[in-house]
Amino acid sequence: MKNAGRIDGRTQLIGLLATPIGHSLSPAMHNLAFEKLGLNNAYMAFEVGNEQLEEVVRGMRALNIRGYNVSMPNKTAILQYLDELDDSAKFTGAVNTVVNTDGKLKGYSTDGSGYVRNLREHGIDLKGKKMTLVGSGGAATPIAIEAAQAGLAEISIFARNDQFFARAEENVRIINEDMKHTQVKANIYPLENQEQLREEIRTSHILANGTGVGMKPLEGKSVIEDVSMLRSDLIVTDVVYSPAKSKLMEQAESVGATAINGLGMMLWQGALAFELWTGQEMPVAYIKEQLF
Ligand code: NAD
Repeated sequence: MKNAGRIDGRTQLIGLLATPIGHSLSPAMHNLAFEKLGLNNAYMAFEVGNEQLEEVVRGMRALNIRGYNVSMPNKTAILQYLDELDDSAKFTGAVNTVVNTDGKLKGYSTDGSGYVRNLREHGIDLKGKKMTLVGSGGAATPIAIEAAQAGLAEISIFARNDQFFARAEENVRIINEDMKHTQVKANIYPLENQEQLREEIRTSHILANGTGVGMKPLEGKSVIEDVSMLRSDLIVTDVVYSPAKSKLMEQAESVGATAINGLGMMLWQGALAFELWTGQEMPVAYIKEQLF
């Protein structure tokens, strides 16, 4: 009998639960990796919001689905339906990856470890370094937590006076109190205080933008008002990857600093989830070459 494509009676499903979902790069990324490695898995995105989440999680468990990614608006709402949380999820208060082992659901957050892994791929070790991080939302929070886990000496978090400020305070409290084992010193400052931002960047090895500033509808904007805050031996990272070269990346390059955009973090958060489900390494270089 002819095989009508990759799907057969043994194919294991991996899902993505989010809404809106149409723009997601994850199905292309994971299916390409399954195909390349000859794994009998398929990755499908499902339009799921908070209202359907409990029922969907129950259904996925009943079907013995190996795992799934969770994105907005479900990253926090999913916590209550899981049996166990990895430290990455516990400290960030969010989950982007669920692994089902014999009906037991464990939640992970691979965004922050994806960020750290991408830096390592660029030859950058966070041990003993100081980071200035802007933001405290869905992308910045896991960066703060995992960078602290990876051995930073100090982190200065700048947050705008909006609904995310309380989360910035919480991130600093978690790092200083709940993550005492890391011995990282965490500080918080209002982003409006640009002179403090200049001073913290001056004493940092890494400046990280964890906000959507630089991406639509804020394309062409940067969290750095004055390029003289940057210098050539600074490492500047952005969570933004579309455009590939945000205003911040342009500013960094203009002073000869190392500029690393958000694409690697995005690829590696997927790769680390892939590894949790399959036990195999995603061929990241191949995926990058094929899709970007
Ligand atoms: P979010 O809404 O959870 O958080 C937004 C953050 O940006 C908050 O800290 C907020 O205070 C800050 N902010 C918003 N507008 C600002 C402004 N004008 N000035 C200063 N600060 C401002 O969003 P999120 O999920 O954290 O996403 C942020 C960006 O990160 C988006 O561009 C998203 O595409 C990107 N992202 C990238 C990756 C990746 O893997 N590279 C992963 C997740 C998110």
